[in-house]
Amino acid sequence: VVEIGLPEHSLVTTCAYCGVGCSFKAEMRGEELIRMVPYKDGKANRGHSCVKGRFALGYATHKDRILKPMIRDHYLQPWQEVSYEEAIAFAAAKLRGIQAKYGRGSIGAISSSRCTNEEVYLVQKMVRAGFGNNNIDTCARVCHSPTGYGLSTTYGTSAGTQDFDSVEDSDVILVIGANPTDGHPVFASRMKKRLRQGARLIVIDPRRIDLVKTPHVEADYHLPLRPGTNVAMLTALAHVVVTEGLMDEAFVRERCDWAEFQDWATFVSDPARSPEAVESVTGVPAMDVRAAARLYATGGNGAIYYGLGVTEHSQGSTSVMAIANLAMATGNIGRRGVGVNPLRGQNNVQGSCDMGSFPHELPGYRHISRDEVRETFESLWGVKLDEEPGLRIPNMFDAAVEGTFKGLYVQGEDILQSDPDTKHVSAGLAALECLIVQDLFLNETANYATVFLPGSTFLEKDGTFTNAERRINRVRRVMSPKNGYADWEVTQLLAHALGMDMHYSHPSEIMAEVAATTPSFAGVSYPLLEEKGSVQWPCNEAHPEGTPIMHIGAFMRGKGKFVITEYVATDERTGPRFPLLLTTGRILSQYNVGAQTRRTANVAWHEEDLLEIHPHDAEMRGIRERDWVKLDSRAGSTSLRAKITDRVAPGVVYTTFHHPATQANVITTDFSDWATNCPEYKVTAVQISPSNGP
Ligand code: SF4
Repeated sequence: VVEIGLPEHSLVTTCAYCGVGCSFKAEMRGEELIRMVPYKDGKANRGHSCVKGRFALGYATHKDRILKPMIRDHYLQPWQEVSYEEAIAFAAAKLRGIQAKYGRGSIGAISSSRCTNEEVYLVQKMVRAGFGNNNIDTCARVCHSPTGYGLSTTYGTSAGTQDFDSVEDSDVILVIGANPTDGHPVFASRMKKRLRQGARLIVIDPRRIDLVKTPHVEADYHLPLRPGTNVAMLTALAHVVVTEGLMDEAFVRERCDWAEFQDWATFVSDPARSPEAVESVTGVPAMDVRAAARLYATGGNGAIYYGLGVTEHSQGSTSVMAIANLAMATGNIGRRGVGVNPLRGQNNVQGSCDMGSFPHELPGYRHISRDEVRETFESLWGVKLDEEPGLRIPNMFDAAVEGTFKGLYVQGEDILQSDPDTKHVSAGLAALECLIVQDLFLNETANYATVFLPGSTFLEKDGTFTNAERRINRVRRVMSPKNGYADWEVTQLLAHALGMDMHYSHPSEIMAEVAATTPSFAGVSYPLLEEKGSVQWPCNEAHPEGTPIMHIGAFMRGKGKFVITEYVATDERTGPRFPLLLTTGRILSQYNVGAQTRRTANVAWHEEDLLEIHPHDAEMRGIRERDWVKLDSRAGSTSLRAKITDRVAPGVVYTTFHHPATQANVITTDFSDWATNCPEYKVTAVQISPSNGP
């Protein structure tokens, strides 16, 4: 029993881990956080939580936190501790010097889905109005950028269609490329509750995830497809829906572009796209695909939930559009219980995209080339904005290696660990003249930094996060920033030093500016959030209470758009040298590259990443449980301990990537989504062999 004493006060805030966005009461004694109590009135979690949000807070006070700014002239030199004033002046002089020498477009920034909406908004504002270019990108580039492209193309807005409550009315739940039990545990519980009440379940995943068979829940169909074949699978499902007459024709005629639908229906009806024809591609028996398609189309309210197993592919955007097609064809859009729902990995992926942190879009997903949109911001910010889209993250690394991109500000991201093709990323970072890293810890990226600005945790700042159901939740400052400033204040200091007129005294003023410039946020304000607890965008004159379910009556773009989704095999091929396919995922107790959770007691539940290998593949190579295994790909090598399991199919291996020693991105390829450059993390051809250790 641990004596924790009584709290003196508490504040409601929002978990900073996954995109469920659970609300917690942070119970405090003075400046000490005693415990996090799941908040019963939290609309996303209704009093529930998982082991991350409740217990994984130790990183906030961990000894590894860097609390003083540091500078150096070159990344190979030792750090020198300085004041914020010196560090900011040093950084601003470097950035302006680089621009004077190499041009306006030679610097840029990367914002983080871990930061608040207000912080992300400020970073993109500083880039557009202060740097004078659009070289702003977000870590959502490497996870859900295909969701943005796919759903805005088909439905007209870059967001999931439903609130979490909607699952209570679902009759059929289709989960593809997501593992909610580990990745989105609190929502997974709500999903399982509905399944225990009798909803039917289809799981499309190369791995037998927990949902496939767990106490009192068993999937009706598990389609264990080969990694990289989502589009073939989704198009085969659509083939069955169309050729067996299972569409909701009335819905399609009324709500969608009929001519585009007819073209699409002709395309998917081609026998070459039938489940039988693609069986050798997907590896899934055609009869199972047919049965699953019939269940989704005729089983009542059908809801689709998907994750990074859909987006992180060379056809990530195509897969998202294939999902959107399927939902439209069956009329599963625009009411409770149905819909298309991306499960966002990070706490504020939705928000960071909403706030205009892509190089081609201003806040509210409006293209930078639209004169009237630029004029809104130009008149408010008092600058002329560049109408050309800026560099995406991978293009920044390319340009750095080529010598045309020289300065980068990275807020709250360890890009060296989290981006693919580590060798190329490090070459790009090493070629920069000024890399400013703002983070809690001296992360891997900071090895190449010349300026380090200490970051603040979510406990130390006010702001908002937007979760996977578009719910804007308040983040409340429960303790003073240990480093002296919240992240948004540091960005503002840098903007000042660059000569910008930026004078916010509280994040509520930043949100007021978002509301004044962004139609889908027009009704959002801190007083409204105080009153309602949270609100889902669009929230404006037409939807003053927010919008739990989108596309009721009409799609945001007017008519729903069917898009032809031709399956194109990834260029990452297996062969005699690399006969297996590696795919990756997360585990419940850990979070992404583990920078935070590894600095908490949660690490006891997962001390190392393991490589899951099917018994047949292991036996062929003489690999036994917990043996060290060398993993080779065309890009590189790493070593992991083996876990022998039939959760993965023969020919597929799987690992998590929570520990730096795993070096998962040393072996991933540089292939990426054709539309958005989202990396193809989920498919890497590999060979495995017994080894003596790392
Ligand atoms: Fe935090 Fe996600 Fe767990 Fe909720 S489910 S407590 S948001 S990590």
